[in-house]
Amino acid sequence: MEQVNLYNFNRQELVSRLRGWGFRVQDAARVWDGLYRELVSSTAALADLRPDLFDRLHEETCLRLPELQVALTSSDGETRKFLLRLHDGQAIETVIMRFHGRRDRRQETRRFTACVSTQAGCAMGCVFCATGQMGFNRHLTAGEIVGQVVFVERLLRAEGAGLRNIVLMGMGEPLHNYDQTLKAVEIVCDPRGIALAPRRITLSTVGLPDGIRRLAEEPLPINLAVSLHGATDEERRRLVPPARRWPLAELMAACREYIERRQRRIFFEWTLIEGENDTPEQAHQLGRLLAGMDAHINVIPLNPTGGYDGRPSDDSRVKAFQQVLAGYGLPSTVRQRRGIDIAAGCGQLAATQTP
Ligand code: SAH
Ligand code: SF4
Repeated sequence: MEQVNLYNFNRQELVSRLRGWGFRVQDAARVWDGLYRELVSSTAALADLRPDLFDRLHEETCLRLPELQVALTSSDGETRKFLLRLHDGQAIETVIMRFHGRRDRRQETRRFTACVSTQAGCAMGCVFCATGQMGFNRHLTAGEIVGQVVFVERLLRAEGAGLRNIVLMGMGEPLHNYDQTLKAVEIVCDPRGIALAPRRITLSTVGLPDGIRRLAEEPLPINLAVSLHGATDEERRRLVPPARRWPLAELMAACREYIERRQRRIFFEWTLIEGENDTPEQAHQLGRLLAGMDAHINVIPLNPTGGYDGRPSDDSRVKAFQQVLAGYGLPSTVRQRRGIDIAAGCGQLAATQTP
């Protein structure tokens, strides 16, 4: 019999399954605690479980965590990248970054951010992205997304630290794998488990309008980041193939609806590529596109990849770009290309490992 991965269940599903087997809600609570509070590595570690439940779990379920293949630490020690292998051999990446914030001074232990993958590969094909260059292999299950978070949280706990933020910005397009991604979010936010605050989770999308509208209706208020990279259809299409199917007008309409419905700002991402999308005129176009919206722009100087010969914009061009945006009342932040020496850009490590 195929064993089900327990990380695929939300708490309600675990309760129903165990009740279906004739056990009590309290038994399910005990298992849930073991999975997400104690972070046990197998059901065998649930020492005080009643023997009949233990046997049933042992027969029909498993705790399937991704397996560590390669671990790399950046030279500044702030970023760690993991190549993880799924049970069918697919390789995915998870990154841990140290969080620097005001609370750091107060010895906050939960000071790390995990960058998590939602697919093995990606079908969207953005030209500068290592994952896009690799193509799409498959969607991850909720349990495989949760498994990355459990992997990270266990590692951090062993160091006396903990996870504070999650960004769904690893390999893959989360809104192309909508249900499993949102289920994973629900599981890691469950107040009786890892209990991450939804506001500490950011989902980054290439910009699928239907998915954005759906997200606006979700009960958990996670943050949304939309990857733009071009402020006209023509320019965006050159970098982001899905822009051919969903024109900017439709994407921006969905974004406006989202902001209106959620009363929350959207983060827009802009990978700055020298001579491609970093001129003052292009900054003005972006400024005009977003002026008046509750928007924050993250500019990310390109992390060069094997399959694309663009170069990152230098500091002076980045600053000039930001200044133009500021003139439209648009705040922006430069996202450091952290861990560039360990190929910590999206999909870059997996790209070096895939045969
Ligand atoms: N598929 C989602 C999330 C994963 S990519 C999305 O596209 O938003 C996360 C962010 O990294 C996106 O903004 C993406 O455009 C950016 N990115 C991908 N490859 C990059 C590279 N080589 N250099 C800089 N940014 C990159
Ligand atoms: Fe996929 Fe995002 Fe990479 Fe585009 S940037 S190919 S959507 S992972």
